[in-house]
Amino acid sequence: MKRVFFTRHCQERLLQRRHKKFKHLDKCKKKNCADCDLHKKQIYDYINDHKKEINIEIRESLANGHEDRSLINNTEFMLAYYDRYGVDHHFSFIHHDDLMFVLVDNTVVTCVLAKGHISGTTRRSKFKKKDSHSESLWYN
Ligand SMILES: [Zn+2]
Repeated sequence: MKRVFFTRHCQERLLQRRHKKFKHLDKCKKKNCADCDLHKKQIYDYINDHKKEINIEIRESLANGHEDRSLINNTEFMLAYYDRYGVDHHFSFIHHDDLMFVLVDNTVVTCVLAKGHISGTTRRSKFKKKDSHSESLWYN
């Protein structure tokens, strides 16, 4: 497999979506929730302690997943990504189980729950800019 990089954002999302103990974050809509703060801190610490395992999990998901090429031709869907990352990139979308991993060139920028994302991306994209700083914190 080609060399890929993982953003911290992707690692956080993977934990949040695939590991039961962090499910609260995916569901909770409360503002200033103490449980959310605690879970975010736990995720932060967990990533620091388990970087290798998490990266292996992402790598295996990518290797066992399948690329959804139809999304590249879905202009409405892609606009959100062009808007955010620019048009001069190679985008790939890899499905594995209920997750979809988003690659921009050779960097896995995030993983999302596949269901609902495809219809919801365009609408949400305008409000997602605040995430971009965390995505520059990438490493191997
Ligand atoms: Zn909460």
